[in-house]
This record gives sequence, C-alpha cells and structure tokens, in this order.
Amino acid sequence: MKVAVIGGGIAGFCAAIALGRIGVDVDIFERSSSIREIGTGLSLWPNATCALRELGLLDSCSRAASRVKKLRLWDRDGREWASVGIFGQATPALCLGRPALLSALLSAVDPKRVHVNQGCEDVSLESEDSRKPRVHFKGGRTLTFDAVIGADGLSSVVRRFVTGRVERPVYRGYHIWRGVAEALLPFYAEGNITEAWGKGERFGIMPIGDGKVCWYATRNQPETASPQGKAEILEHFRGWHPPIAEVIAATPDSAIVRTPALDRPPAWIWARGPVVLIGDAAHPMTPNLGQGTCQAIEDALALSLLLSRRGSIETAFHHFEKLRRVRAAAIVVGARWIGGFAQSQGWATRLTRNGRLPRSFLSGALEGTFHALHGYRAGSTARAERALYKWPA
Ligand SMILES: Cc1cc2nc3c(=O)[nH]c(=O)nc-3n(C[C@H](O)[C@H](O)[C@H](O)COP(=O)(O)OP(=O)(O)OC[C@H]3O[C@@H](n4cnc5c(N)ncnc54)[C@H](O)[C@@H]3O)c2cc1C
Repeated sequence: MKVAVIGGGIAGFCAAIALGRIGVDVDIFERSSSIREIGTGLSLWPNATCALRELGLLDSCSRAASRVKKLRLWDRDGREWASVGIFGQATPALCLGRPALLSALLSAVDPKRVHVNQGCEDVSLESEDSRKPRVHFKGGRTLTFDAVIGADGLSSVVRRFVTGRVERPVYRGYHIWRGVAEALLPFYAEGNITEAWGKGERFGIMPIGDGKVCWYATRNQPETASPQGKAEILEHFRGWHPPIAEVIAATPDSAIVRTPALDRPPAWIWARGPVVLIGDAAHPMTPNLGQGTCQAIEDALALSLLLSRRGSIETAFHHFEKLRRVRAAAIVVGARWIGGFAQSQGWATRLTRNGRLPRSFLSGALEGTFHALHGYRAGSTARAERALYKWPA
C-alpha cells in the first residue's frame, strides 16, 4: 500500500512512523523548504505518552523532557486557588520543546521518504472506478497513491477535499504569546506548571528540560490588534507574581511568538474514500487543555491499528472517523469553553479567584477532567473497534 502524508508536522511524522511499523509504504510531503524544528513548548499528557510508548517513541521523546508532577492555578499575586497532582497513570506527563519532539520523530523516519518544498494544492480521485487519490503539488506535479493522509494543520488543503467546504478558522477573542527562557528555576524543575489568572489575561510557566522554561501569556483583544513585543508584554505583566518578569526578561524579543486563539467547529466528516484527516487538519483546538498534539499522536496510533486489519482502506478510514470524532469534538468544545471561562471578566471567574468556591471543589473538578482526558487509551479503543464492530470488505 502506497500512502502519501501531506504535512511534516507532529501529526504527519507520527502517522508515518505508525504506518511504517505495520509495513505501509509511506512518503511525507511538506510545503516548507525544511522540516522546521521550531516552536516553543508542549505538554504531553499520559494519554499521549501512552500512545508514544506503543509506537516505540516514548524513550526518545522523554530524553529531552521534564516530567510534570503538578498543575497549579494561581491568581496574579501567586495565591493558589486550585491544583492537581499528575500521578496514578502508567506513563508520565511530560513537557518539552517542540523542536526536541520533532527531532526525536525525525530520527525515527527514513530521510529519503521526507520530501520538502512539496506544497499540496489539491487532492482529487483518479476516477470514480479506481478510487485512487491523486495529489496535485505546487508547480504542476501530480502523484497517485492508494491513500492520502491530510496532516496539513489548521488551514488544511486536504480538509477542503474531504469536507467539500472552505471555512475560515474562528478567532476566540484573545491572542497568545509564547517564549522559551533559559532560566534555572528549581520550583519549575521539580515538575510544577503554574498558570495565573487575571481579568481577561493569563500567564503560564512550565519546565521543558535542559534548564529551560516555556511561558505563555494570553490577553483579550481584537483579532486585528497590532503586534506587541517584549517591552509591552513585560509592562503589561509587571506586578504579577515572580518569576514572571524574570522569564519574560530572559527571553530574546525575536523568540517571542504571538498566535491568535483559533479553532473550528468540530468536524463530523474526517474521511472521503481513501483520503483521511488527522491532527489539526481534522480538529484544530484552542490550547487550553494542552491536547492538540496529544490528539494528533492518538490519531496516528488509532489509524495504524485500524489499517492493520485486512479490509479496504475506505473501511478502515470509516472506522477511524467513527472512533475518533466524538472524543476530538468533546475536547475541541471543552478547550474552547475553558478558554472562554478563563478569559472572561465576569462573575464566574471572579468567584474562583476570590476564594468563594472552596479550593477542594475546584481542585476536584480539575482532577475529574484530567482523569477523563488522560486515562483514555487510544490503542485499546482502536483494537476494540477493530475486533468488535461491523467490518465489511
Ligand atoms: C499557543 C499554543 C500552545 C499549544 N500547546 C500545546 C500543548 O501544550 N500540548 C499539546 O498537545 N498541544 C498544544 N498545542 C497544539 C499543537 O501545537 C497542535 O495541535 C499541533 O502542533 C498540531 O500538529 P499538526 O501536525 O496536526 O499540525 P501542524 O503542526 O500545523 O503541522 C502541519 C504541517 O503541514 C505543513 N503544511 C501545511 N499545509 C501544507 C500543504 N498544503 N502541503 C504540504 N504541507 C503543508 C505545515 O508546514 C506543517 O509543517 C498548542 C498550540 C498553540 C497555538
């Protein structure tokens, strides 16, 4: 079986590695001129690290990571109003730099199968009879495969073919700034993540290994607000708990990235014939649950397990869509809701921050959410789908 993966991000690499393990002939096509080992930090929760372990990638991904032990929610002065310990799962929660994760994935792929400067412009079917997908690349080249996996992110071209619609991502009312600082901070090195909430703004810090921390700041503003640099962010978060000013100051201006908080309404259609979507192409979400990459890793494992059963590719993709879309939709909506709540300036958030809701109640709610999210096992649910359900040839 010859498969094209469109997009050399985390979803694309995980899918190529997972399919390679079951003997599928996979090529990755990336539009950029190189595989960009750029980005700031990511959290990989136990649902994702368990899937990485099944893919044989956990050791290499753990090497450059920090193990997370506790998420602490604070007010802007550093007073804790909720916290949740991360334990009791078979695999750890990790935080690491996106470059470190990409580099671990890259080293598990045959470099000859990674093709850069190959922007996909469209996908079509060779003919209704043969049902073979064709990929049309920038510059006029067209290649035919047995299947195509769209891992081309938020503005996916493959998604347009699958859903038949052109939709713009939806802006959720705030921007996010991210940076990485070289700062030896023992409290964070011990495995603490903090997120402080103000009115319509938040500031988070997490350890990402190698003596570094990744930070993020959010702020409500119009989508078209002019870009603000380090000086403005520093000024804005002055007076918040230490070491916020210190980590901003330790980050080079050029290394601070601003992204709008975007997602899409959850998609019901993920597959069209032998073409399927994974990762952000299928389910872009706001980062409030730290699950975008985690879901991409779950997708890759589930897809490979379903494709490993004898039967048509289209049937495997149909089962994949059926298996994955409800969980992904719940996480997209959950992340959006939490973002709206955390960024709100209204009474609900004031209640949490003023201590009117007991800390044990808030921590319990957080623990319940984490348990449901992190206890999911993409491998066993895909195996059950593969074994138990109707599976026409
Ligand atoms: C502020 C922020 C913080 C986040 N924090 C976390 C976190 O802590 N934990 C977590 O799990 N997730 C997090 N995420 C989400 C995570 O970054 C994404 O969900 C994840 O990167 C999606 O991976 P992907 O491979 O699907 O898409 P992408 O990373 O977008 O990769 C898509 C790739 O496809 C390529 N491409 C695009 N179009 C084409 C084309 N037409 N032809 C060929 N190639 C193409 C792109 O160049 C890119 O390389 C965060 C996101 C943001 C914005």
